[in-house]
Amino acid sequence: MRASQFLIATLKESPSDAVVKSHQLMLRAGMIRKLASGLYTWLPLGLRTLRKVETIIREEMEEAGALEVLMPIVQPSELWEESGRWFEYGGELMRIKDRHNRDFCMGPTAEEVITDLARNELSSYKQLPKNFYQIQTKFRDETRPRFGIMRSREFLMKDAYSFHANADCLNDTYQRMHKAYNKIFTRLGLDFRPVNADSGSIGGALSHEFHVLASSGEDDIAFSDTSDYAANVEMAEAIAPSFERPDATDTLTCVETTDQNTIEDVSQYLSVNRNQVLKTVIVEGELSEKEQKDGLSAPLVALVLRGDHELNELKAEKIDGIAAPLVFASEERIVKLLGCQPGFVGPKDLSIDVLVDRSAAVVANFVCGSNEDDKHLTGANWQRDMTFTRVEDLRNVIDGDASPDGEGTLNIKRGIEVGHIFQIGDKYSKALKATVLDENGKAKVMHMGCYGIGVSRVVAAAIEQNFDDRGIIWPKALAPFQISIVQIDAHKSPEVIERSEALYQALKDLNVEVFLDDRDKKTSPGVKFADAELMGFPHRVVMSSRGLKNGIVEYKGREDEKGDAVELPCDDILNFVKSKLDL
Ligand code: ATP
Ligand code: MG
Repeated sequence: MRASQFLIATLKESPSDAVVKSHQLMLRAGMIRKLASGLYTWLPLGLRTLRKVETIIREEMEEAGALEVLMPIVQPSELWEESGRWFEYGGELMRIKDRHNRDFCMGPTAEEVITDLARNELSSYKQLPKNFYQIQTKFRDETRPRFGIMRSREFLMKDAYSFHANADCLNDTYQRMHKAYNKIFTRLGLDFRPVNADSGSIGGALSHEFHVLASSGEDDIAFSDTSDYAANVEMAEAIAPSFERPDATDTLTCVETTDQNTIEDVSQYLSVNRNQVLKTVIVEGELSEKEQKDGLSAPLVALVLRGDHELNELKAEKIDGIAAPLVFASEERIVKLLGCQPGFVGPKDLSIDVLVDRSAAVVANFVCGSNEDDKHLTGANWQRDMTFTRVEDLRNVIDGDASPDGEGTLNIKRGIEVGHIFQIGDKYSKALKATVLDENGKAKVMHMGCYGIGVSRVVAAAIEQNFDDRGIIWPKALAPFQISIVQIDAHKSPEVIERSEALYQALKDLNVEVFLDDRDKKTSPGVKFADAELMGFPHRVVMSSRGLKNGIVEYKGREDEKGDAVELPCDDILNFVKSKLDL
């Protein structure tokens, strides 16, 4: 590609609404442009990278035995009514009407459409398993579209759906897709982790998310430093400490803590570490349907955690007897029950159930609320001074906790979800009556798996892991062009033109994606270098009239940006570049 014919749309400054690096760099390098909130046009440069992601995914899907289809973006409401999701799906589902006033939606995903296809095309167990995939635009009217194409409203997704006669077969395909995903993200050159997203709920549908580790990620991922254990922090179990509770040695004392009503305040005021202060949170318990009908108010439950730990609401609401979704008791109810402000609540002499976190249960000689305003207890101890109903896992894991699989300690990093695989079972096939005849000629509902990759999000995630202050540093697999040849002072030197054109042609003949910066003298050398760095091409060759006078050209790799350019005899450059490109 010649720069003179290409659309170089680089920007010096990044637009002020771009907060994450990938969004800034995609705009600055001229990969994308915003049309409206959450809607982006892919410019020629960006599209080349997007297509590379697609190609790798397509190759690995074929390798895993999946069959490519292409389904419409616009989907009829009838199918969504059959699955029940027409009524369940919230504002993310963009509903539209055609000229006959019939309801449709813009597909946010395609379970309904593929299940409809499967029920029409598959009739016998002998045709199973089948795994269909597509790479198609999705539309989700996200509440907060942000970070450019990382969370946009229209985006490109690879979605695959597999159909099976039984759960074992589904599991086989699931494992195969798990492997394929590992291969895809490895080939893309990403630092990623497959994360167990098993909800642990009844029926425990197996599910994994694939996360690219990057500080701009929206999820916290906990992973072991020695094993392959990884889970969303929301899901990771905080195992019980391996030590016993120390002895109660201090004397229980009630101290003035006027106006000190946060853990931070109290620990500073009393000069004790936050892990020696226990906090008590009051939440609502569960009411039976009858109790609800009778207008009774929910019972209250106390949750006790170490001051340096955070309550995990998902874990709490899964506990029997606690309302789901979790409801924090109102200040009014707390004052009525305990006679003090929420900041002074503690577990002593409570008339309600007290659930204590595993780590808080092994603290001795601690500080806690006294159930009296402006006072805390010090030297407090379980059993001797106060009791709990049960020990539970109530908190988020933190950096340095023991890994729940017993191997190593947990590290916590932010992650960007780029893929999600899921055993859905018969949710859609049952609702849409997608059956095949089994060996005995009996109709059987098929089992389903579904497997998504955010194709466009992958591009942003890759940039989040590969940039410096000059721009993008593309991994080889994703670079829109592998190498740029920069002409300097070509207007003064026919030799620059001759030599650069010869190298350009030779590389093209070798099928190398090569970018020749043949812009005329109106574009300064500095701008040409800055553009090549911003767009992130892995290799750069500079041909200038001054260098060529001495038979010299310059080479620089994008990754070794700090080092100086290498000067090479002009006649050696083709072989040198070939070795750099592994040709
Ligand atoms: P998220 O939690 O990030 O909203 P999701 O759980 O809704 O994702 P899935 O329904 O599993 O996502 O979709 C499959 C993949 O599509 C995701 O793993 C993600 O990479 C991508 N994806 C989802 N929503 C968006 C979006 N708004 N913009 C870009 N990619 C998206
Ligand atoms: Mg979502």
